[in-house]
This record gives sequence, structure tokens and C-alpha cells, in this order.
Amino acid sequence: MESSQALMERAEVLLRTEIAPKAAAIDHNSNTLQEALDVLGNHTLLALRVPQQWGGGGVDENTFRCFQELIARYSGALAFLQAQHQSAGSLLARSENESLKQQYLPQMGRGRALVGISFAHLRRDHSPLKAIATDGGYLLNGLSPWVTGYGFFQTFIVAAVLPDGRAVYGMVPLQTSQQETGGSLVCGEPMALAAMNSTQTVTVQFQDWFLPNAEVVSISPVSVVAKSDRLNVLHHSFFALGCARAGLDILEDAYQTKQLSFLQSAHQVLAAELAACRQSIFSAQVGGDRFEANLQLRAWAIELAVRCAHAAITASSGAANGIDHPAQRVYREALVYTVSGQTSAVMEATLTRLMSRGGWVMG
Ligand SMILES: Cc1cc2nc3c(=O)[nH]c(=O)nc-3n(C[C@H](O)[C@H](O)[C@H](O)COP(=O)(O)OP(=O)(O)OC[C@H]3O[C@@H](n4cnc5c(N)ncnc54)[C@H](O)[C@@H]3O)c2cc1C
Repeated sequence: MESSQALMERAEVLLRTEIAPKAAAIDHNSNTLQEALDVLGNHTLLALRVPQQWGGGGVDENTFRCFQELIARYSGALAFLQAQHQSAGSLLARSENESLKQQYLPQMGRGRALVGISFAHLRRDHSPLKAIATDGGYLLNGLSPWVTGYGFFQTFIVAAVLPDGRAVYGMVPLQTSQQETGGSLVCGEPMALAAMNSTQTVTVQFQDWFLPNAEVVSISPVSVVAKSDRLNVLHHSFFALGCARAGLDILEDAYQTKQLSFLQSAHQVLAAELAACRQSIFSAQVGGDRFEANLQLRAWAIELAVRCAHAAITASSGAANGIDHPAQRVYREALVYTVSGQTSAVMEATLTRLMSRGGWVMG
């Protein structure tokens, strides 16, 4: 069996040689992003948290976080797209629906089955997507506001709120479909996004969509999402750390080209801060009573990613504004990591940190 270290080394070589040189194209061209996803699939890197008995990588939490950080360093769009699929794999692996697991899990590591997710709307007070129980399954009505991976993923796991305060998670196609029962599912046009546009994020409108019991992944109280957000408040930080590293890579390159000593100093100072932030996040304890402390770490990672990306822009001068320049791509990616998985607590912590760094005191 491959060790975690060997897997990370293999992934790093792959990302550096096959993904990083195409990062600009991956960011705005869906075909190039598809090829990049295929590269991960060909190297069986797409179901890392799925147990090995189901054909997954079965890697431990720490290794998986390192992988997420690493991939974000080389391509934000690829990091974001594969993250949806890896999350779907984790959800399915925890399902009690054995036949769904049998159908999907063994195919996911190689990307022969590609699956998205949509449950961010459960964080809202009033879910725009609802379900009611019916004979043999559930009827879904409403809107799924964010589904990344249109044109890449054949299916996605959607969560809809039941009248009793639970949410049903089920497998649905990620393409406009009509059912014989009269139900329909309509995918919107891919949104025009400032960052990671190639990942093709759409809204999906459901009307009397019949979700048979056989396609149900799980049912759990809606409140589980809020609990998980508190417990796992650091999860999205690993992408921000990788993004910060990407900014510093550009700063380093600028120093190598321009040989201005202040570029080297800036790199050293920011790299030391990133090392400290990273160390704090990777060694953080997880648990309800650690929420406030971990929330501050998440805000630090977000704000540091933006600062490192801004440093990359500053050091790259006017060229940074070029459409294919890595500095502005990384800056746009930092935008996504600021808001993805955002809760009102994360929003507040991020703003509090931004306010505290100005050094100006209101008179
Ligand atoms: C490019 C992109 C792709 C994405 N892809 C996916 C995907 O594939 N799957 C997926 O599940 N998610 C996806 N997301 C969603 C992402 O995780 C969300 O950005 C994040 O969860 C925040 O949700 P939101 O932007 O809808 O904000 P909201 O949920 O509207 O707001 C965020 C927080 O503010 C609070 N809030 C909002 N409005 C009010 C109000 N009026 N009063 C009081 N509190 C309020 C909410 O309760 C919530 O806690 C994607 C996002 C982006 C930007």
C-alpha cells in the first residue's frame, strides 16, 4: 500500500509538471479543466477519503488536508472542482444505501463516475429547496442556488428540507431532465463568474422532481450542517493556505527576475507568517469549545491569502493586469476562498480581522 508521503510526493510532481503550466487555461477553459480533472482521475486521486474497500484512497484527514492545500497552490479551478467530487465521495461512503455505494464508489477514484454536491443553501434560515415524502420517495420543489461542475459531473447530491426539519440528500442528474411522472429539473446557464469560471456553476430548479428511495443517500436534521460548520470551521482554510503559497511563489519569481532586495524581504516576512498560520491550523484541536479559536484561524488564513495575492500583484507591476497573468488569477481565487463555505460567523470574523489591521483609530 502506498504511504501518505509517497502519495503526496506523487501528487506534487503531477501538479507541478502537468497542471501548473496550464493553470491560466484551466482557469478559463472548461475543456482544459476537464483534461486536468482527467489527469487526477488517471492517477486515482479523485476519491481520497473513500475507504480502500470501496476502491478509494482511504487517506487520513491530515494527508487529505495537505492534498487540498497543495492542489490550491497550483490551480484554484481544479482544486475547487475536485473538492466537490471528493466531498460527494465522503458523503456516499457514510451512506447506508449499499446499492448506491456499490454503483458509485468504486468508479469515483478514477473519475469514471463524477459527482457534485449542493447543500450550501441549508445554511440559510429559509431553504429555497424543499421536499415532501410521497409513495416510494420524495418530491422536490424549489431552487438549488449553487451547483458547481455542470458539464463535468453526471450527477450531484442535492439536499432538500423536509417539513419536520430534517434534510433529505439524494442523487439527481446534473443536466436538464424530464420525468415520466411530470417532474422536471432545469439547469440554468453557467454563471459568468469573476473567478474559476471554467468550473461551470449553475442553479438548478426542481419542479415535483421525484427522488425515489433507491436514490436517497441519507437523511439528517438540518441542524447537522450548522454543527458540522462549527466543528469543521477550519476545513476551507486549507485552500486559502494553498492560495497564499501560490501568491508567494509569484513573489519569489518576481524577486528572481528583478533582484530587488525588498521583494526578497517581503517574501521572507510573508512566508514566515504563512508558516505560523499553517502550523496553527494543522495543529489546531477540533471540538465545540475550540470553535472561537479556530474561527480566528480561518479568518487569518482568508486574510493572509488575499494579502499574499496582493503582494504578488504588487511585485508583478502592470503585467499583473494581463488576463493570463498568474497574479490576478490567484487574487481572484482568494476571493472564492473568502466566501466558500461562508457562514455569518465566518463573515463576521473575516470583517473583524480586516478592521483590526488598518492601524487607524476612529476619533
Ligand atoms: C463559484 C461558487 C461555486 C459554488 N459551488 C457550490 C457547490 O457546488 N455546492 C454547494 O453546496 N455550494 C456551492 N457554493 C456555495 C458556497 O459554499 C457559498 O458561497 C457559501 O455557502 C455562502 O452561501 P451564499 O453565498 O449563498 O450566502 P448566504 O447563504 O446567502 O449567506 C451566508 C451567511 O449569511 C447569512 N445571511 C444571508 N442573508 C441573510 C439575511 N438576509 N439575514 C440574516 N443572515 C443572512 C446566512 O444565514 C449564511 O450564514 C458555491 C459558491 C461559489 C461562489
